[in-house]
Amino acid sequence: MMKPLVLLVDDEAPFVETMTKRLSKRDLKIIAAFSGEEALEILNKNRNTDVVILDVKMPGMNGIETLEQIRKQFPLMEVIMLTGHATVESAIEGMKLGAFDYLMKPCEIEQLMAKVQEAAKKKRDHEEKIREARVREALSAHGLE
Ligand SMILES: [Mg+2]
Repeated sequence: MMKPLVLLVDDEAPFVETMTKRLSKRDLKIIAAFSGEEALEILNKNRNTDVVILDVKMPGMNGIETLEQIRKQFPLMEVIMLTGHATVESAIEGMKLGAFDYLMKPCEIEQLMAKVQEAAKKKRDHEEKIREARVREALSAHGLE
């Protein structure tokens, strides 16, 4: 599998910097945003993003609002919510809105990596199914199947 492209979104700059450094050493390509608004801009320019790691609690556009926009604009991307104890309810709401999963902060890097790999695989499998369906459709349109 090609290295998954992952966008990390969190308003705490030191957290983003530390995680970006640590995750870059792993088998993925990571880009970062510090707000929901910035995340949407970056996703518009990086439409091949596989997974978004999304903080729930952010000033301006919060994690849930950002999630709703991502689902609407980039429905194939998978989203993992990051939450503190105070915002678990929001993470649950996120799951109902189609988030792949959620993790509690502070999260272990191994656990986060495992979730990211799972989410990336789900997204790639989904894309593969869509490709297959398109091929089948094209064949049948030409009376070949
Ligand atoms: Mg936050």
